[in-house]
Amino acid sequence: MLRLKLLYNLVIMELVLQQPDDPPFRMLPELTPETAPFWTGGAQGKLLIARCGACRLWIHPPMPVCRVCLSRDIAAEPVSGRGKVHSFTINHQPFLPGVAVPFAIAIVELPEQEALRLTTNIVDCPPDAVHIGMAVSVRFLRQEDVYLPLFAPTPAAEA
Ligand SMILES: [Zn+2]
Repeated sequence: MLRLKLLYNLVIMELVLQQPDDPPFRMLPELTPETAPFWTGGAQGKLLIARCGACRLWIHPPMPVCRVCLSRDIAAEPVSGRGKVHSFTINHQPFLPGVAVPFAIAIVELPEQEALRLTTNIVDCPPDAVHIGMAVSVRFLRQEDVYLPLFAPTPAAEA
């Protein structure tokens, strides 16, 4: 009976957590002048990455000073939104309420520059189909004023 009750409570909890109007809870990043373009570019459907105006280096995570030429002339520019899975892990731990497990956490490398990488989730794809080298494209998940850049497999016709 206790088991049944526990099971019942878990089911109710799931139902409560997965209300369709209620987007899954995620930890939202803090917006600063440097990071805001990256987290809000999705409002225009663009993945914006910081770039040095002097030596043209792409810089991620965004920094106020270029690590190569020390210029402070840094501004965000759009990238293609394409990428490849550099590495990934499948998370089975329900760390956050409302985020269904398992899900894929990946480091995606952008083609604009060698080793230009960001940490993201791979979505619209079963976690066990994610693999290194997989071609992926950005999409945005709006959460309040933030547009989280997530990646999904690039359709074969576009790859
Ligand atoms: Zn530079």
